[in-house]
Amino acid sequence: MADWVEEKLHKHFRASYEVSRVLYKETTGHQSLVVFENPTFGRMLSLDSVTQTTEADEFIYHEMLTHVPILAHGRVRRVLIVGGGDGGMLEEVLKHKSVEHVTMVEIDAGVVEFSKKHLPTICKNAFEDPRLNLVIADGAEFAARRTGDFDVAIIDSTDPMGPGEVLFTAEFYANTKACLTPGGVIVTQNGVPFMQAAELKGTVTRFRKLFADAGCYLCTVPSYVGGPMALGWGTDDASLRKVSEEELDRRFRAAGFDTRYYTPAVHKGAFALPRYILDILG
Ligand code: SAM
Repeated sequence: MADWVEEKLHKHFRASYEVSRVLYKETTGHQSLVVFENPTFGRMLSLDSVTQTTEADEFIYHEMLTHVPILAHGRVRRVLIVGGGDGGMLEEVLKHKSVEHVTMVEIDAGVVEFSKKHLPTICKNAFEDPRLNLVIADGAEFAARRTGDFDVAIIDSTDPMGPGEVLFTAEFYANTKACLTPGGVIVTQNGVPFMQAAELKGTVTRFRKLFADAGCYLCTVPSYVGGPMALGWGTDDASLRKVSEEELDRRFRAAGFDTRYYTPAVHKGAFALPRYILDILG
């Protein structure tokens, strides 16, 4: 009889994943974590019973939360990642040879340590890259210091509960903006709007008070159940969203790496929002 791991993120809906093998289980000072294998998704990371990332579909989320802001900006040298303990976001950012420095602020050292050991197909050797400055701290406390000058800030957090809750506040967003260079971009993990409308509405409402250009774009990640996932977007440089597909294609080719989800056409199309999401944003 197979074991199953239940995802308990949503109030009235649960998803279950068959467990072929449990690789790691621990309760750190911040959250309970499980790494297990599933026949469809491969190795999966769950934090506090919420699916974080899977070997099979992590490329979608990590490619879209990195290459969209970096290629839209076009001159990214310094990147801030808040969260991202599995290393997948870091690995994708580091593909850009133009990136000279990445500060990654992760609250739970345990996530980094077991990801290196149990999720090597996701983080690969990203944690060994000399461009990385890994800071084990609360991202909200880090941002409150308002130090650093980053061209892109990627908020790769858990959902707004437990330690991740502070990463959805107006104060955190304002402090993170203060860490951006002029015309810098913040992008955020903002859940599945069909299931988590209030979360997306909250972030975009706060971004609208902070940035000249505030909104979201979409990608579809099979293990984030309930339809397309929203990625928050905020910048004072409204021209970034208007970069042509031809120019994005030039920048993408110059970057010189392959992707499995991101293309310049998908980049542009990701900002076309269906009516129900436009209605959520108001
Ligand atoms: N892809 C996932 C998603 O969409 O939900 C996120 C993956 S990543 C594992 C989330 C990371 O955020 C975890 O490693 C967690 O420890 C970290 N985290 C949660 N709250 C944090 C905080 N306040 N400061 C820094 N990192 C935090």
